[in-house]
Amino acid sequence: MKFRDLNAQYSNIKDKIDSAISETINSGTFIGGSPVTELEKELSEYVGVKHCITCANGTDALQLALMAWDIGPKDAVFVPDFTFFSSAEVVPCVGATPVFVDVRQETFNIDPDVLESEIKRVLSQGELNPKVIVAVDLFGQPAEHERIRQIADKYDMFVLEDAAQGFGGSIKGALTCSFGDISTTSFFPAKPLGCYGDGGAVFTDNDEWAGLLRSFKVHGKGSDKYDNIRIGMNSRLDTLQAAILLAKFDNFKDREIDECNRAARKYDELLEGYVITPTIFEGMTSSWAQYTIILKDQDERARVENALKDKNIPSAVYYKKPLHMQDAFSNSDQYGKEDVCPVTNDICRRVLSLPMHPYLTDDEIAEIAETVIKAIVR
Ligand SMILES: *Cc1c(COP(=O)(O)O)cnc(C)c1O
Repeated sequence: MKFRDLNAQYSNIKDKIDSAISETINSGTFIGGSPVTELEKELSEYVGVKHCITCANGTDALQLALMAWDIGPKDAVFVPDFTFFSSAEVVPCVGATPVFVDVRQETFNIDPDVLESEIKRVLSQGELNPKVIVAVDLFGQPAEHERIRQIADKYDMFVLEDAAQGFGGSIKGALTCSFGDISTTSFFPAKPLGCYGDGGAVFTDNDEWAGLLRSFKVHGKGSDKYDNIRIGMNSRLDTLQAAILLAKFDNFKDREIDECNRAARKYDELLEGYVITPTIFEGMTSSWAQYTIILKDQDERARVENALKDKNIPSAVYYKKPLHMQDAFSNSDQYGKEDVCPVTNDICRRVLSLPMHPYLTDDEIAEIAETVIKAIVR
């Protein structure tokens, strides 16, 4: 059994992917070209946002957004404590300060009440200017973007939607990557829409920021890449990856998101009452980058992990450490404190992500659920 079965996906649309790859090689264009522009057009139409700017990966996408807004020293960027490192890593990269915010246990996403109290705390300390809220759509479920938008408006801040795991999810029919002032995603192979290497994209309705993003991603280019008007970076999505994404996109839209939701419902049905299953809020759909359960305590999690391992069923702990406990953030005043972000501290000891992908069969889910339940009920 696979945690995320990319081979099953490939065999399903092998001809399409193979011909996309060989056409690209035959074209002799490996950077830029029509697959990249066509992908940007298709993705922006799908998401319903004016500009899609592809780049080299989801981490660069986040950093490019902060660069376009000129975020830097003395600026505070609010990031959930429970997320992948990248969401916060990019903040010191531009000289700004991350402030870690606790999440809700039910959804794993940033808690809007804690967010507002942290903004007030930073304002009252008077050292940093609250500028950006990084709203992560963790494990595929959109963050509470309506509440987050109200808070951003109240304190005159930007919303940066990190939809690296959320691409394809929605709120009342509106798709992720449309909720931020700037939104980003990743095409890392295991993400909901993955390529065969690294890739990412930035979305915005704002023409000025789109222009800046296109400049920053190509060495701060002016009229061309040999006219450099600002310090940028080298962050392009290569042609081969764009062609592979185009070949995968129809199947992703028309089938894979629904199939992941089918798998999640099956898990819910079998596991309810034994473990805490993920809550999806009314009106939201998840793209199910992960299906993550919460066990009673660290010991129970270890028992479940071992039982799965004995049956060759892969599982993973996302995430083992709160961001405010990561040594990379040792100069943060929140670093290492047990009383900072108590929900995150607690769930890091109890979460477990189970295999999740569109090609997971009901029989496999039944076997996984049975193994989990047997390890709990002794
Ligand atoms: C994967 C991920 C990223 C970074 O994407 P890369 O393409 O790997 O750089 C950022 N944020 C979150 C929440 C992620 O899961």
